[in-house]
Amino acid sequence: QSGYPVYTRKAYTDVAYLACARKLLAAPDEVYPQFATHNAHTMAAVQALAGPDYTPGQYEFQCLHGMGEALYDQVHDRPCRIYAPVGTHETLLAYLVRRLLENGANTSFVNRIADESLGLAELVQDPVQTVATLAAQDGCVGSPHPAITLPPDLYGAARANSRGLDLADERTLADLARRFAADASRTWQAEPLIARGMPQGPWQPVRNPAAASDLVGQVREATLDDMQSALDAATMAAAAWAATPPAERAARLEAAAARLQDELAALLPLLVREAGKTCANAVAEVREAVDFLRYYAAEVRRDFDNASHVPLGPVVCISPWNFPLAIFTGQVAAALAAGNVVLAKPAEQTPLVAAAAVRALHAAGVPRGALQLLPGRGETVGAALVADARVQGVLFTGSTEVARLLQRTLSRRLTAGGQPVPLIAETGGQNALVVDSSALVEQAVADIVSSAFDSAGQRCSALRLLCVQEEAADRLLYMLRGAVQELRLGDPRELATDIGPVIDAEAAGLIESHLRTLQARGRRVWRPALGASRAASLTAQGSFVVPAVVELASVAELEREVFGPVLHVLRYPRDRLAQTLEQINATGFGLTQGVHTRIDETVAQVVGMARAGNLYVNRNIVGAVVGVQPFGGEGLSGTGPKAGGPLNLLR
Ligand code: NAD
Repeated sequence: QSGYPVYTRKAYTDVAYLACARKLLAAPDEVYPQFATHNAHTMAAVQALAGPDYTPGQYEFQCLHGMGEALYDQVHDRPCRIYAPVGTHETLLAYLVRRLLENGANTSFVNRIADESLGLAELVQDPVQTVATLAAQDGCVGSPHPAITLPPDLYGAARANSRGLDLADERTLADLARRFAADASRTWQAEPLIARGMPQGPWQPVRNPAAASDLVGQVREATLDDMQSALDAATMAAAAWAATPPAERAARLEAAAARLQDELAALLPLLVREAGKTCANAVAEVREAVDFLRYYAAEVRRDFDNASHVPLGPVVCISPWNFPLAIFTGQVAAALAAGNVVLAKPAEQTPLVAAAAVRALHAAGVPRGALQLLPGRGETVGAALVADARVQGVLFTGSTEVARLLQRTLSRRLTAGGQPVPLIAETGGQNALVVDSSALVEQAVADIVSSAFDSAGQRCSALRLLCVQEEAADRLLYMLRGAVQELRLGDPRELATDIGPVIDAEAAGLIESHLRTLQARGRRVWRPALGASRAASLTAQGSFVVPAVVELASVAELEREVFGPVLHVLRYPRDRLAQTLEQINATGFGLTQGVHTRIDETVAQVVGMARAGNLYVNRNIVGAVVGVQPFGGEGLSGTGPKAGGPLNLLR
């Protein structure tokens, strides 16, 4: 898709309004149209479309109390209903702000009629005529507004944007449903993709976390022999890849990006079935992988010179299962771009996606010695690779515990050049959001639901701890429970699913046992009602965890990262915000932290005290600015410079 799913010129919306009016008026037996407009031209057009012979019950106009009355004073022979929003300040504020934004827009009729520099003819110009004039200028009907950058060009000259799918488009959804049906029983394979030798290990099944009965494929894990020959091959291939001109390395990464982009539709069922991703998450994942390849290619094209930028040599890339394509590809792309040769160890749960990525990179011209895949367990394959003296650097994304283990192993030796072995580790943390009583509850709840429960909470940046000012807590939690109740937990092969499974039965067991511990301590755990039979059938079928909201008595009760759809909530008194922020900091490194407030001092206080990589500030102004300060880690705003970028992978 190369455009936006909305009109980028107002005249198109005006024409669409008239087209809808015509259709509605043509079905008087089925519909009683009510036209709410403050635009004089639209009102006249509706009357003309309806014809001169008005019959009662044919249609009516509607006018917001206090607005457009001068216009409707002119209409005597058609009914006009005056309407007024009724309710409390809380329920009406968002509506009123939306009206202000709409009517305040300088293309709005209400705004233009007050502009004395506009002539009458201009004010009441027929939108059909406007569109025809534009079409004559552009050579086609419906072309987008030239001042609005199209999605493929959003990154300007830096790189092309990746392509997604419009999941609001019925034809796209029908295509996807067909694709999923056709791929339902396709099986994939992953085995060590090594430059020398033949892998010999036994095949093991890979199953869908949403449905144990679905065999997604088979994997052959790397044996000690496979690892030895891969390490030898990498050592032999290192000099040639390091000497390959940066522009040439970049070209191959870009070719791999093009392949992954072309394979989008084929990769989606695989991501959904192997990693339990929803379709929307799977689309985002492919796009992020494509973008990583292009981003790092562009970096080395711009800045690299083989004489001054000397790569490390063989590096090991160890990735997690929660972004089996994006993080896997991101690490590999950064290392390859800088001229290193790579031994890639994907997570044991997601070898099939990793193999698909490696095949795309090989097909795009990355030599087999420069990139080898070694599927297998962390404790065996991962640990052995990291400990090997031939390995000159490690890129790791995963848990803090494993990062510490790797750090300890690497601290025991030096690189060939006598330097400490670089370890680039991106790990987990406790991500907190502070919501005070000035926040707009609707906006806060929307953010909370997507941050805590999208991807079944299996993002390193997912919200784990919601700190809400006590005065606002009951109302916010009431609305939050209502919103969570609406989410659909289920098999992501069904496109209606909002939340899929967690990655495996072990993960589900850990999350449930954490909830039982809190419950035993007297903490209230709320979960949406699924119906006993649906809950039982889901848990029998796959590793599903029903989302949970748990109230804590103190931040200290959160002892470790709980990687699933569990939101912890803490109520704080207004005068203890500073102490609450200190307690959040005391949990260790926070990957992300957010604040919802309308008070500038609170923004300053939270931003000033936050010890987190990404800060998210929402001032709760409807339709207005949200600030994100990116640092590293996947998630908030797509690809940004990662800690493991090419510049950190040099000698
Ligand atoms: P994990 O640490 O269990 O595993 C990550 C990888 O390390 C896997 O490939 C695993 O096989 C390997 N591994 C495990 N033990 C090893 C050992 N002893 N030696 C070498 N390798 C070993 O993490 P996970 O469960 O796969 O992923 C979830 C974690 O990843 C969460 O903590 C999450 O916060 C973190 N994460 C961080 C980021 C980020 O960008 N900061 C992104 C995604 C996930």
